[in-house]
Amino acid sequence: MKIAVIGTGYVGLVTGTCFAETGNTVTCVDVDKTKIDKLSSGTITIYEPGLEKIFLRNQKEGRLKFTQSIGDAVADAQIIFLALPTPPGEDGSADLKYILGVASDLGKLLQPGNYKVIVDKSTVPVGTCDKVRSAILNSGAGRNIEESFDVVSNPEFLREGVAVDDFMKPDRVVIGTSSERAVKIMNDLYAPFVRQGNPVIFMDEHSAELTKYAANAFLAVKISFMNEIAQMCERLDADVDMVRRGIGSDDRIGKRFLFPGIGYGGSCFPKDVKALAKTADDINYDFQILDAVMQVNEVQKMHLIPKIKSFFGGNLQGKRFALWGLSFKPNTDDIREAPAFYMIDALLAEGASVAAFDPEAITNTKQVYGDKISFSSDQYEALPGADALIIATEWNEFRTPDFDKISSLLKTKAIFDGRNLFDPAQLKNAGFHYESVGRKAVKQN
Ligand code: NAD
Repeated sequence: MKIAVIGTGYVGLVTGTCFAETGNTVTCVDVDKTKIDKLSSGTITIYEPGLEKIFLRNQKEGRLKFTQSIGDAVADAQIIFLALPTPPGEDGSADLKYILGVASDLGKLLQPGNYKVIVDKSTVPVGTCDKVRSAILNSGAGRNIEESFDVVSNPEFLREGVAVDDFMKPDRVVIGTSSERAVKIMNDLYAPFVRQGNPVIFMDEHSAELTKYAANAFLAVKISFMNEIAQMCERLDADVDMVRRGIGSDDRIGKRFLFPGIGYGGSCFPKDVKALAKTADDINYDFQILDAVMQVNEVQKMHLIPKIKSFFGGNLQGKRFALWGLSFKPNTDDIREAPAFYMIDALLAEGASVAAFDPEAITNTKQVYGDKISFSSDQYEALPGADALIIATEWNEFRTPDFDKISSLLKTKAIFDGRNLFDPAQLKNAGFHYESVGRKAVKQN
């Protein structure tokens, strides 16, 4: 099939590349010239395990192209994906200006008798398919394009860091449409991705749009719930790891997404929880759990700061901290709403300095902080002269570090771990002061 993907960010690039991988011819569009120039010349623009290899192969074999021209991309496409940003507006609602702007462009480009399926892959509030349809019809008024398109909701559930696997072998594909013509096309498109029998679930547009928010909000609830249990553990001398294992073995609860930490971040959970709360507000529904989830997360992002301050007698002026991890989660260079950034801001505000390391996210972080913090080229280089080590992201390479080396390089043998990477007993034996989340602090007498 011939596909156009409009918006070539995290979702658009993965979507386009993976559809090319199953034999489709894909043209990805973006307004960002630098991005399109880089991609066209074979340079990948995001770090995502496994993506570069299939990106290069499909580009070389002519199935994956990049352009700034929406007209060129959609001219002979049968399916047009919208993978555009939906950032939070001032009131928390998803800002639809990118989606509706492109919908207006499409109204001028669609031709009578040349049917296309327009698929919304962005995370959008309930009713957006209707708005996209109206925007297309308004801008194409008088051109007889009413029967030339359907607008379908196909929310994306990929997780950054494992996006290629998630896309190639999705748990489920959700498609919202009432058009039989669109159902057939979408079924054919996704058939190679669900050969193991995972479901393609067809539903109405509104339910599909709400499904995406419900999924992300539910996961955010799970995280905030565990973070509150971790807070209880610290006050009750219990160990959250034990509680997690104790409840996770119950099928109804499940083992995944039960790890406490320093809050959820990233480009999706914070904005999607906010947007769902706004939708509830708009329909006068008091969605109490969502408000609590957001409040808990705000507190949790700062969880380590009071512990660090208390360890240093309430004053961080002139202290230096080594920080491991900048991306909002491992295996990505995405720093949007990364918990590490909230900690950096708090430490700088207290008069401390920060030496940071991350395996992939340094380039992006430099664009935010410039020379306000320093960066090291490996995890140990951040340590000399630091008063303590802080862990903000659970990259695998941080899990079993050389504690002797850490000990010899740090000024004070203190580690504040926002991801519970280490065994407290081991750190006690190694002579560290060690504080984590929901577990007893290790203090050396
Ligand atoms: P992104 O910011 O990485 O990418 C969006 C791209 O769209 C950018 O490259 C931008 O330049 C481009 N763009 C903006 N206006 C354009 C226009 N008029 N024409 C062409 N291109 C244009 O965003 P993302 O992370 O890929 O997210 C896209 C959508 O998918 C959002 O709604 C998001 O909530 C949703 N989503 C994201 C993820 C994720 O993990 N990132 C997962 C599932 C769903």
